[in-house]
Amino acid sequence: MNKQATVIEDEKRIALHTLRHSLSHIMAAAVRRLRPDAKLAFGPPVENGFYYDFDFAGNPIGEGELQQVEQVMRSIIKAREPFTREEKPCDAALRYLEEQGEVYKLEYAKELMEQGKAANGMLSFYTSGDFTDMCEGPHLEHTGQVPKNCFKLDRISGSYWRGDEKRPMLTRIYGLAFASADELKEYVEMRKRAMERDHRKLGEELDLFIQDTEVGVGLPLWTPNGTVLRDELEKWARETEFLAGYQRVTTPSVTRKELYIRSGHVPYYEDSMYPSMPVDENDEYYLRPMCCPHHHKIYASRLRSYRDLPLRLCEYGDVFRYEKHGSLSGLLRVRAMCMNDAHIYCAPEQIESEFHNVITMYQMYYGHLRMGNFRVRLSLHDKNSDKFVDRYDEWERNEDIVRGVLDSLGVEYEEETGEAAFYGPKVDIQVKNLMGREETVSTCQLDFVMPERFDLTYVDADGERKRPYILHRAPLSTHERMISFLIEFYGGAFPTWMAPVQVRLVPVNAALLAYAREIERELRGEFFRAEVDDSGESFNKKIRNAVTRKIPNIWILGEKEKVDDCVAWRRYAVKEQQTVPRRAALDMLRKMRTERVMDNFADVALPLLQPDAV
Ligand SMILES: [Zn+2]
Ligand SMILES: [Zn+2]
Repeated sequence: MNKQATVIEDEKRIALHTLRHSLSHIMAAAVRRLRPDAKLAFGPPVENGFYYDFDFAGNPIGEGELQQVEQVMRSIIKAREPFTREEKPCDAALRYLEEQGEVYKLEYAKELMEQGKAANGMLSFYTSGDFTDMCEGPHLEHTGQVPKNCFKLDRISGSYWRGDEKRPMLTRIYGLAFASADELKEYVEMRKRAMERDHRKLGEELDLFIQDTEVGVGLPLWTPNGTVLRDELEKWARETEFLAGYQRVTTPSVTRKELYIRSGHVPYYEDSMYPSMPVDENDEYYLRPMCCPHHHKIYASRLRSYRDLPLRLCEYGDVFRYEKHGSLSGLLRVRAMCMNDAHIYCAPEQIESEFHNVITMYQMYYGHLRMGNFRVRLSLHDKNSDKFVDRYDEWERNEDIVRGVLDSLGVEYEEETGEAAFYGPKVDIQVKNLMGREETVSTCQLDFVMPERFDLTYVDADGERKRPYILHRAPLSTHERMISFLIEFYGGAFPTWMAPVQVRLVPVNAALLAYAREIERELRGEFFRAEVDDSGESFNKKIRNAVTRKIPNIWILGEKEKVDDCVAWRRYAVKEQQTVPRRAALDMLRKMRTERVMDNFADVALPLLQPDAV
């Protein structure tokens, strides 16, 4: 972005902030007209709008009254009431707040004074119409400057004063506000679409996974449908990794404390781990938070020569992390997950090409899955933090290597200081979900610390023992996080190769059931997930049911299809119907599976479905 554009962006941001802030005053003024006894707490502008916290003394305002509040707000806006600023000396300010019975503002004002935050011993107040609030500003010049239809009161929630559950419970009214009516409308529609695609909602509707309080929070159970999604991703990873020269290993989910003391996870990472469990006499075990140390042990179990490198060990490994209860969310943040993990042990001169290959693999996966809205972050160490191993020359040398690989591939990235792993720089793929929440989905880390801790060596061509480097990588993330994003991006409509049910066979009447069964047997014999709809529903209802389940292919079987040995093929994404000979139809399915065709996008044609190919 050029400088001028940045200035304009900044101005816009400040204007929006001022608008939202002014609206929170206008809302509070309106609430006070309806409920003169309501006490004011905090009312800041926030992302997408503003809120205000009130104490309604046990008789909170309800969602049904929000329209009334909005109406009063509109009349205040119409009245073009100016915002006027007044500075009061602290003692006068306290007296005023006390007279008004504003206990929360009074507490806050005292705090500001004690902390020396009252500039020149003064506190500022803003008045518009009959409403006065202690506040720093800034505000619009007058209420009439609020653009028409640019705001909307959204919802009510409870919140504790100062976020402290021992203090009084307040009522928070949220409003949405944007620079124009169009932007507000756009946001509301975007949010509606996003909520329809929420992976928790679709996960339930499509029966992909469940959570059960008796099992525990953050511990999803994958149903048969959801397990198909995992299996298909895993199969893809196995094939991709096989072709890229990886070797699979299998290691246990629990392990002795000693291993994590050596790796440094205990004590540095202990807060994110499940508590240890006593086993046998004087021994402690942990559920593992990552697979690395186990893979390092496999590396260390043999004498390695430079001819063995790079050694690439991979595993879809179960790992367990103790995430805080409040941060758990559907599949996005969980306490048990299965990771597309691998560790590449290589000689220093191989780092560049190995890193290059890993980044190319990421590009392939993200491109194929059509995951477009991500950014690449190069996460660097911070000299001023004790979170990182203090070998600064090595840090800089290794960061240069990673930077060089990204540059040579033409990858656009942003550098962020202080985001590295404690043992080395990393590349993070940051993906935003539909609601704009950003998470790290995949990482690739360059590790120059663990080889020493685990005393990993190889015998080089000159007969000397040397230290390898390690790359940690997980392009397909954990199943949990990756699938939560895919569900939302695809709105639950998966491509044929991933879909829990790949083909729904719909005979148009009971007489064609036998024909449908015959095709079903044939498809299942080739391991296609096909099923006949033999319910007693009407034909139209059967089609609707298949569409609601987002099944990618419906094969409609009528008398004519039976006689011609054909199927009438309807795709979920395009909803058009095409008659295809049964042999050709089977060929197409095979091809869609092997090529992992992304037929859940309407613009992706099935190669063989083009008229000349059939
Ligand atoms: Zn204000
Ligand atoms: Zn690792």
